[in-house]
Amino acid sequence: MELLDKQSIWQVRNSYLGVYVHFPYCFKKCDYCDFYSEGIGPGPANDEKSLFQSYQKEILDRTNHFPEIKNRTIDTVFFGGGTPSKASAKHWKELLDFLRSEFSFSDNPEISIEVNPEDLSSDLLATYHSIGINRVNVGVQTLEPKGLEFLGRHYDADRYGSLLKVLTHSPIKRVGIDLMYGIPGVSKESFYRDLKLFLEAGLPHLSLYSLTLEKGTQYSRDVTDHKKKEPEEDTQSNILTQLPNLLKEHGYLWYEVSNYAKPGFESLHNLKYWTYEPYLGIGPGAHGMIAGNRYGNPRNANLYQKKQTNTKYEPVDPGTELSLTLFRLFSPFRYLDFIETYLDSETKPKYLKTIEGWEKRGLCSIDAGVFQWNQEALLLLDDLILEISL
Ligand code: SF4
Repeated sequence: MELLDKQSIWQVRNSYLGVYVHFPYCFKKCDYCDFYSEGIGPGPANDEKSLFQSYQKEILDRTNHFPEIKNRTIDTVFFGGGTPSKASAKHWKELLDFLRSEFSFSDNPEISIEVNPEDLSSDLLATYHSIGINRVNVGVQTLEPKGLEFLGRHYDADRYGSLLKVLTHSPIKRVGIDLMYGIPGVSKESFYRDLKLFLEAGLPHLSLYSLTLEKGTQYSRDVTDHKKKEPEEDTQSNILTQLPNLLKEHGYLWYEVSNYAKPGFESLHNLKYWTYEPYLGIGPGAHGMIAGNRYGNPRNANLYQKKQTNTKYEPVDPGTELSLTLFRLFSPFRYLDFIETYLDSETKPKYLKTIEGWEKRGLCSIDAGVFQWNQEALLLLDDLILEISL
């Protein structure tokens, strides 16, 4: 396992808590977007103030329901959306202050915000830095105007033009971007050209993922009506398999199917989703997992603010959950610890047998209780996950 000495090995951690907060508004609803979000144009949301009040109320309600989470230490906070950079930094600061007054925080928590290119500026990053945000991710998707047009994304040419400079001069050092491939009309070469810019700039975190067709989106209706083409799957498989080596040459660790980071710059918050750590999900459309229970909030900002906090909790099946999340990791993890900690005596042997089978087929390596996929597993991953979840 050649990468082991360089990569972090993920393991069971049971005293921490993550917090995700969903801000549902965007400049414009993108055609492919499956998240709960509403396009409201350039101005602020009318209900921003009351939405932030509702966040605090929900945090208190969830904590009252699960008082044991107060014994945990918050080590990651993630402001996502929607477009959280559309909300005022003052509101994010107040919410952070509130969380700090209610919970204990680790010494160096990761506090992230997603920023859309139209909001990105040096001033905004300086403000975020001053209020304690220490990680920023920008949803670039593509630098090709025709690609952005295909996606139905709002495009501000000046902001797109300056984003690389702004990010490389950021006072916040943990910066990353999302780039998408397989957009009809955007060539493979064009994707690699964009990627090269970010690789050469040495941005510490890159999320590289393929365009997918999600039911219920404008994009899916347009495909049904033959107005738009489906994602280019051959191009996507080709790029997907080329990326690990290309990124490795530039000093990036491949730690999850679609995520690459310079050592030490992995998204600790997202790692919680893949390693079965609890997190509070706050806001309309947010999901959370606390004390082995999942919950989801209504995908409607108005309802979310008017109605009582949804207290429908569904127990999670750890066997299914682990198979769907843990095995997305391409960095090494202590699989025996996860199995011992979370699985019952019936599921354990089944897991171990499947993993041994994978090793025999040359799909993974196992060493002293540590599991790591080999690259050969990448294109088979969906089927392999199915094998272990059955
Ligand atoms: S900006 Fe992001 S969250 Fe908002 S509609 Fe577009 S893809 Fe969805």
